[in-house]
Amino acid sequence: MADSKHYQVLILGSGPAGYTAAIYAARANLKVMVLEGLAAGGQLMITTDVENYPGFSEGVTGPELMDEFKKQAERFGAEMRAVDATKVDLTNGSPFTVWTDEAEYTTDALIIATGASAKWLHLESEQALMGFGVSACATCDGFFFTGKEVAVVGGGDTAMEEATFLTRFATRVHIIHRRDELRASKIMQERALKNEKITVHWNKTVAEVLGSREEGVTGVKLNDTVTGEQSELAVQGFFLAIGHKPNTEIFAGQLEMDETGYLIADPSSSKTKIEGVFAAGDVRDKVYRQAITAAGTGCQAAIEAERWLEAQAHAEAKASPLG
Ligand code: FAD
Ligand code: NAP
Repeated sequence: MADSKHYQVLILGSGPAGYTAAIYAARANLKVMVLEGLAAGGQLMITTDVENYPGFSEGVTGPELMDEFKKQAERFGAEMRAVDATKVDLTNGSPFTVWTDEAEYTTDALIIATGASAKWLHLESEQALMGFGVSACATCDGFFFTGKEVAVVGGGDTAMEEATFLTRFATRVHIIHRRDELRASKIMQERALKNEKITVHWNKTVAEVLGSREEGVTGVKLNDTVTGEQSELAVQGFFLAIGHKPNTEIFAGQLEMDETGYLIADPSSSKTKIEGVFAAGDVRDKVYRQAITAAGTGCQAAIEAERWLEAQAHAEAKASPLG
């Protein structure tokens, strides 16, 4: 291994949670490395306007916001590498070992902020119009569709919740579901189905999102899974609500996860079951999934990591014959 280095705090991920943890840990004079991941900057790098992050009264673009986060962490001396961690060994306690394709790192404390990824349909048109009328976050982007018609894909609780939320802004919300039965809980279904602004299109899959970056989304092309017929629906917004996937594969078997793969951490301290390992942001939060909440838990994890390191140092000093 060419590069093998030891840090007091190693942070995995560079979304709002990872960079915020880096700001706090580096500013506490700790030696900090951020393995930013290949998607450096995190989920906000694929969005345009962010209007709900406090401190930007006129809004800010996702990439600009993340650039500021990064610069702020670097200002206090955090080191950064835009690589993915490929393997971790947490089994023997601190110090922990983390590998990338090129290097091996050891760290006294580990903060995991690898986020979660929205699931996409992976249509070329959907990817091209992401941030131009295509979104995976109604809380973030719903406001931009005031007075317009939108489509929501999915039949689970998220789809029902997003669709219901969007009726605050949109004149009509079209739920597009691939089956004739919803997966959502009864209560969430009822809430959505009795809303007069919501129409459900059953047995439909999306073949294409129509529009351009200049004019935004103009509609969707649908396939009927029963009759095979194609149809078009005129909408100006297209929301994916087919689930999220936390980026936690490399921790499998070492850290506690819920049934959908989210890390389990104490909400009031970010501590995982392994002493010295903390989890922050969307990787442990399937409820709020916002930049501000991710930044908040990033701060919490860094402060807790610093306290934990301090306690370790005291314990070692006491145990030493000179202490
Ligand atoms: P993420 O932003 O998901 O970042 C995770 C990081 O971990 C990435 O840098 C990735 O490269 C890295 N990573 C993953 N695996 C590894 C690995 N193995 N090793 C090292 N690094 C790894 N929220 C708002 O508050 N306002 C908005 O307007 C808004 N708009 C959004 C628009 C879109 C299109 C999307 C998808 C989300 C939006 N959100 C918005 C939600 C917000 O982006 C997330 O809640 C937030 O980014 C979560 O931050 P995070 O730091 O937990 O993780
Ligand atoms: P989910 O329950 O997995 O539902 C995903 C939905 O998207 C399903 O209806 C699925 O269709 C559809 N889907 C998946 N892939 C698709 C594709 N490629 N094309 C078209 N449709 C596709 O995910 P979720 O709704 O995000 O919920 C995740 C968890 O969070 C659940 O446990 C849920 O209860 C919980 N949650 C709770 C609340 C709440 O209680 N307030 C709110 C949100 C989420 P099929 O049904 O055909 O599989």
